[in-house]
Amino acid sequence: MLLTKRISFKYEQNNQWVLEDISLTLAAGKVTGLIGANGSGKSTLFMLLLGILKPNTGEVCWDGQPLSYHKEALYQLRQNVSIVFQDPDQQIFYTDIRSDIAFALRNLGMDEEEVLRRVDNALTLVDAQHFADQPIQYLSYGQKKRVAIAGALVLDAPCILLDEPTAGLDPLGRQQIIEILQRIVAEGKQVVISSHDIDLIYQVCDEVSVLHKGRLLTSGDTQQVFLQTELIKQAGLVQPWLVRLHLEKELPLYRRE
Ligand code: ADP
Repeated sequence: MLLTKRISFKYEQNNQWVLEDISLTLAAGKVTGLIGANGSGKSTLFMLLLGILKPNTGEVCWDGQPLSYHKEALYQLRQNVSIVFQDPDQQIFYTDIRSDIAFALRNLGMDEEEVLRRVDNALTLVDAQHFADQPIQYLSYGQKKRVAIAGALVLDAPCILLDEPTAGLDPLGRQQIIEILQRIVAEGKQVVISSHDIDLIYQVCDEVSVLHKGRLLTSGDTQQVFLQTELIKQAGLVQPWLVRLHLEKELPLYRRE
């Protein structure tokens, strides 16, 4: 389980606190949404959860232990916490899709038969088998996003962070990502999604944390958080479409199964 205990952070070149006193428990087997206006500190928080940045005060903990920031410990953490960046080009290095997804496994010296089995599983999970033999430059943006997700899934890390998984996608591409997210969740992984796509967050997240100017405004059950109209406004956000229909048209509130 990944959590933060009262972390605060500022960048060296900037004397202002970017995050202040953030305590978050990201429960295993749950999907947590991280939302906030631009500049509220979401990406910085992801870098702290990955151990790429170190908090000035407080602790980030994995499995009950505070992170240590030496190379081997971070290498170990990488096998437990994976990230899918917003821009797939930041994550894909090979022109051959299977080689790209296999990279981290081969780097670990894994048996080749196991590498191929895992790559196949990851490709199936993201529905990419039918284009996996094309060169990467022939893929659409949405297909590249799916390859990047497969690259993060292949290590079978119990925790996956996704930064803006639906940004830049058309409605079909977005729907495909939602289905992939649902499959990842069904595997019992801990998933954290940072997104401006409020309707996506509403649809797939059990819990949501709202950042505002580097502070945690609230954290809790997704529906309960989004029903707080004033708080969502204060954070510079809008309520999901289904919550607005409920509040404005008095329709019953859709509940996720
Ligand atoms: P978000 O992801 O919510 O848009 P960020 O974490 O990117 O927020 O940014 C939070 C704040 O930190 C912003 O004020 C941003 O200008 C500042 N910031 C982000 N990256 C850096 C950096 N490398 N150096 C200095 N300030 C930064």
